[in-house]
Amino acid sequence: MNNRLIFLGPPGAGKGTQAQLLANYLDIPHISTGEILRQAIADNTDLGIKAQKYVDGGELVPDDLILDLIKERLGQSDAQKGWILDGFPRNVAQASFLDNLLDEINQSCDYVVNLDVSDEVIVNRLLLRGRKDDSEETIRRRLQVYQEQTAPVIDYYRNYGKLNSVNGDRLPEEVTISLQEIFNSND
Ligand code: ADP
Repeated sequence: MNNRLIFLGPPGAGKGTQAQLLANYLDIPHISTGEILRQAIADNTDLGIKAQKYVDGGELVPDDLILDLIKERLGQSDAQKGWILDGFPRNVAQASFLDNLLDEINQSCDYVVNLDVSDEVIVNRLLLRGRKDDSEETIRRRLQVYQEQTAPVIDYYRNYGKLNSVNGDRLPEEVTISLQEIFNSND
């Protein structure tokens, strides 16, 4: 079974949409750290209270809040048949934590997909989306954080020879087809 995938890409690349479609298609959980954090904030949990100022400011939430959450989530029963990670790992420390965790629980990641999208497209898409953390200032900060902290994760996986890049500047249906092609060609 090759059902463990990591989705990388800048904010607004369409990771969430594509990850959800592929997760439905493969019948595996779509694990979005952004979604988990937004839910925690809405529910006013301890995690949500601690995370809110970072999410609202476009900063990464500190690793110690995210790492336990991922460990717990990948240990749940529905994640034993596979998973799609969306929004994690978001820096090199998280990527290296994930490597160790997967070793420990005897799993490995089968595919890393990078959805490539140009900066202009991203800003337009995010402004149209209008989520609470999508103000122009926060978007700009999220892009900066992406360049500084998340883009190096692409090289991290490229060095492993696991990286598949997909052009995300296309209609969602076209992107879906490319993703399914990657998946089917390596099956
Ligand atoms: P987007 O990809 O559009 O920026 P996400 O839903 O992936 O949106 O993330 C929203 C916010 O949640 C991020 O700006 C960040 O504050 C926080 N976040 C999500 N995942 C992580 C992570 N792995 N590490 C740290 N912070 C995270």
